[in-house]
Amino acid sequence: MTMDLTFLGTGSAYPSPHRGASAMVLRTEGECWLFDCGEGTQTQLMKSQLRSSRITNVFISHLHGDHLFGLPGLLCTVSLNLNPSPVQPPTCVNIYGPRGLRQFLRVALQLTSSQLVFPYAVHELESTTDQCPPEGHLSPEVTADSGCLHSQELPGRTIALDVSSDCYVLLEDKRFVVKAFRLFHRVPSFGFSVQEHDRPGRLKTELLKELGLKPGPLYGRLKAGESVTLETGQVVNPIEVLEKATPGRKVCVLGDCSSLLGEGPLGACHRADVLVHEATLSDEHRDKAVDHGHSTPSMAAAVALACSARSLVLYHFSQRYKPAGQHKEGDEDDVSELRRQAEEALQGTDIKVSLAEDFLTIPIPLARPH
Ligand SMILES: [Zn+2]
Ligand SMILES: [Zn+2]
Repeated sequence: MTMDLTFLGTGSAYPSPHRGASAMVLRTEGECWLFDCGEGTQTQLMKSQLRSSRITNVFISHLHGDHLFGLPGLLCTVSLNLNPSPVQPPTCVNIYGPRGLRQFLRVALQLTSSQLVFPYAVHELESTTDQCPPEGHLSPEVTADSGCLHSQELPGRTIALDVSSDCYVLLEDKRFVVKAFRLFHRVPSFGFSVQEHDRPGRLKTELLKELGLKPGPLYGRLKAGESVTLETGQVVNPIEVLEKATPGRKVCVLGDCSSLLGEGPLGACHRADVLVHEATLSDEHRDKAVDHGHSTPSMAAAVALACSARSLVLYHFSQRYKPAGQHKEGDEDDVSELRRQAEEALQGTDIKVSLAEDFLTIPIPLARPH
């Protein structure tokens, strides 16, 4: 199964002609999962190879506009361009994010008389008071659920922090487990980890034949990790007859933050194949970055190191850093300096650093069995 990550917007604060506001898509077989949706994400999607009608899950890290203003418009345009099949009802778009997201979307869609041809549900994560300074918390009156659902809205879940893992379990299916974890920012912010399940290795069919086992239900049980007893009384353990398992891939995307909160992030991001972390400003501006709830390249590098990530991708650059191709002689702020700073902080490790650019696609290949 192929998997890749495409950046649609890599700038902070607002979209500009050279960098879109935050948005990226993780694509797996046939499905697109959108992480953040800054203003202009829909036009960025149209310029990319991705199909917005394939978006099934949306994850919003926090409620700042540069991560959210694009969502109502994107949903409306997807709806306009969708031809619902008369035989197959359209699937529900599941949207995950902080408390207040449900009301934001409901008001935006209701006040603009926007109808959708597909259902949607907003699943809200309960933040904790230590995720931001006191002034960053929205009052309960603002986030309160009016109770009056949009006509295409299905009731969503309210997801509390699982204290034992210090994470939020958002979804789990045959292929993936998706978790969220807490970050510190000016408003409650979250990161997300997408963990693919390991795949069991192939059955050693020659060996099974030698043992007198014919293809059939017993093969399935062995593959599912169960021991089976032969007619002779001999017990066959799956480990003896299976090739090595292929480890599942892990992709982690952190929202805006100046630090991690609790044990959750390191657990959820441990040995991530790709760790996407913001680097709004360069290391020289560390105090300013932290003041605004943001990170610098060496701070992002420290996170990658702490969770033993295999690669670090920096994004969410201040609009002062133009993409490498548009950098001119004499421009003061050079985005490649941000990569250099992260690389310097990771010297002596094998963690690969790259800079995200709008429309950059990073393939995430399967690792070899270990
Ligand atoms: Zn931001
Ligand atoms: Zn922010």
